[in-house]
Amino acid sequence: MSAYEYKGTTTATILVVDDDPGARLLVGTALEMAGFRIDTAADGATALKQFREHPADCVVLDVVMPGMSGFDVCSALRAMPECRHVPILMQTSLDDMESVNRAYNAGATDFSSKGINPMLLAQRVKFLVRAKETQDQLRESEARVRYLAYYDPLTALPNRQRLLQILDQQVAWAEPRQRGLAVLMLDVDNFSRINDTQGQAVGDVLLKEVAHRLQNCLRDTQRTLNQAEDGFEKKDINDWVARTGGDEFALALPGISTAEAAQAVAQRVQRALARPFVFAQAEIPLSASMGISLFPGDAATAETLVKNADAAMHHGKKSGQGGLEFFNKSISTRAAKHLSMEADLRKALERGEFTLNYQPRLALKDLRVEAVEALIRWKHPQRGFVAPDEFIPLAEQNGMIVEIGDWVLREACAQARRWRDAGTSAWQVAVNVSGVQFRDGSLVSRVSRAIDAAGIESRMIELEFTEGALIEYSAAVSKAVKSLKELGVATALDDFGTGYSSLSYLRHFPIDTLKIDRAFVRDIASKTGGNAPLVDAIIAMAKSLGLATVAEGVETEAQWQYLKTRDANQVQGFLFCRPLAIADLQRWHDDWLHAHQLNAASVA
Ligand code: C2E
Ligand code: CA
Ligand code: CA
Repeated sequence: MSAYEYKGTTTATILVVDDDPGARLLVGTALEMAGFRIDTAADGATALKQFREHPADCVVLDVVMPGMSGFDVCSALRAMPECRHVPILMQTSLDDMESVNRAYNAGATDFSSKGINPMLLAQRVKFLVRAKETQDQLRESEARVRYLAYYDPLTALPNRQRLLQILDQQVAWAEPRQRGLAVLMLDVDNFSRINDTQGQAVGDVLLKEVAHRLQNCLRDTQRTLNQAEDGFEKKDINDWVARTGGDEFALALPGISTAEAAQAVAQRVQRALARPFVFAQAEIPLSASMGISLFPGDAATAETLVKNADAAMHHGKKSGQGGLEFFNKSISTRAAKHLSMEADLRKALERGEFTLNYQPRLALKDLRVEAVEALIRWKHPQRGFVAPDEFIPLAEQNGMIVEIGDWVLREACAQARRWRDAGTSAWQVAVNVSGVQFRDGSLVSRVSRAIDAAGIESRMIELEFTEGALIEYSAAVSKAVKSLKELGVATALDDFGTGYSSLSYLRHFPIDTLKIDRAFVRDIASKTGGNAPLVDAIIAMAKSLGLATVAEGVETEAQWQYLKTRDANQVQGFLFCRPLAIADLQRWHDDWLHAHQLNAASVA
C-alpha cells in the first residue's frame, strides 16, 4: 500500500474524463495509487452515460475536448439528481480567470491547472472526497433532525407539522381542479384512563395498534397515486394518517368532496377500532370521537381545516363518546368564543375576578344548616357573570382548573375559619374538585396546605367530586381518597347516578357521602312517580354501605314532602336557598332561624 492510500470508509470511485489517453493514464495511475477505483471516459457524452450507470464519488474533468466542452459536461452532470452533491474538479490548461469563472458557473467544485503533478492532483481529490463524506454525514443527520421534527417516532406517522405541509399540498392540488378534500380528526376516548390503569407501555402498544388499524382504513394507495398529476409531490396527494397529539390522530383524504363519502371512511374507522384490543389475555375495548371538515366548504386553508375538524370533534365529544360530528358554522363561532374566553380565563385569577357563593345543605330531620357548598362565580368585566358550566370544562381542558381549584380551596378554608371565628355557626364547607385535579397528583398536599394556612380542622372541609371523575381517573382518585381519609377530610360523590358505576364498585373508595343527582330528584313527586323507586333504592343501598346521602336540586314543595318520608340525611336546593354571597347568606340564615324557630346558639 502506498503512502497516498485513500483512507475512506469504502473505496471511492473517481471518474476521469479526458480526450488525451496519456493524461487519462497518468491521472488514473496516480489516483489508483492513492487507493481509489477509476472509471474513465474519452468524451463528454460517454462520461454522462457512464455516470448515469455507475455514479462516481468525484469527477476529474478536462475542459478542452472535442464534442461537448468540459463546461457543458459539468452543467449536464450537475443537472442529474444523483450528481447534485458530487465534487467535480475541472482541469484546464488555460489557467486564466475567465475559464475559472466559467467552471464555477457550470457548477464545478474546484479547479487545477492541467500541468499539475498527478500525485498532487490525487491529494486534491482526496480532500474533495473526504469533504463530500463529511457533508453526506451532515446531510444525513439533518435528515434525521427533519424526520424528528416532522414524524412521530412511536408510530412513524407524520406529526401535526408534517400533516399541515401535506394538507397545504393537497389544498393546492384540489383548488384549481375543483376537487374536494376531507380532514378527519380522531381522539381516542378515555385514553388517559387506560394509561393510568394499564401503564404507559400498554398505552404505547395500543397507540401503535390504533395507528396500524387506521392505516388499513385508507383507500387503495395506488389508485390515488395515479390520480395525482405531475408537478406535485405525488406521494402527498394521497390518503394520509398522522398522529397529531398524544391520543389524537388525523386522516387527510384528498378527493373526498361529500359528507357521505367522508362518513363512509369514518364508519370504516369506527368498525376497525371496535374490534377489541387484546393485551396479555386482557381485552381492552376502545372507541374514538371524530370530527370532519371539508374543503372548500368548511375552510380554505390547511390550518383552518384542521382547526375546524378539531372543533367538530370536541363538540361531538361533549354529547357523548364514540361519536362523529361534522363541522358547521355554529361550531366555529363557539370555538372562537372558546378561544377568547380561554385568554380571559388566564387573566381572571390575577385580576381577582372569581368569587365563591355558598349554598346550604340542610339536615332533613330539622332543617338546620349542616354544611354549605362552595360554588365558584366568575365576574367577567365585559361578559358579566359567566356560569361555571361554561368555563369549568374549558379550565379542565387546558389544565387551568388546577390553579383555579387551588384558589377555591384556599378561599373556602379561609371562609370556614371566618365562620368559626364569628362563633355562630360551624358549617362544614364542601368544595367541588374536578377529575383533572386528581390526575394532577398535587390535590392532597394542596388541600392539606389550605387547611393549615386557614388554621381549621380537617373535618370542616369536604371535597365533592363527580362519579364521572371517579370512573375516568379511578386510580388517582382511589389513592387520593385514602390519603384524604387519613387527613380527616370528608369526601362526597357528586351527581351520583349519572355515571355507570355500581354501588358495589364504590366499596373500593372510602367515601363518606353520596349526593343523589338532581335529575333523579326532579320527578320523584310527579304523577307517575318517575324515579322515586330509584331514589329509594339509592338511599337504602348507601345506608347499607355506611354512606350518608344528600338529595340535591330540591325545587318544589312536593319533592320536599316526598323526601321527608325517606331516610336521606341532607337536602339542598332552590326551595330552601339559592347559592348566595356571604353577606346574603348570613341574612338568609338569620331569617331562616327565625322562621323555623331554631335557636342560633344550638346550631354550632
Ligand atoms: P354541582 O356540583 O352539581 O353544583 C350544584 C349546581 O346546581 C349549582 O350550579 C347550583 O347552583 C345548582 N343548583 C342548586 N340547587 C338547585 C336546584 O334546586 N335546582 C337547580 N336547577 N339547580 C340547583 P352552579 O353553581 O351553576 O354550578 C354548576 C357546576 O359547576 C357544579 O355542579 C359543579 O360541577 C361546577 N362547579 C361549581 N363550582 C366549582 C368549583 O369551585 N370547582 C369545580 N371543579 N367545579 C365547580
Ligand atoms: Ca357539587
Ligand atoms: Ca351535584
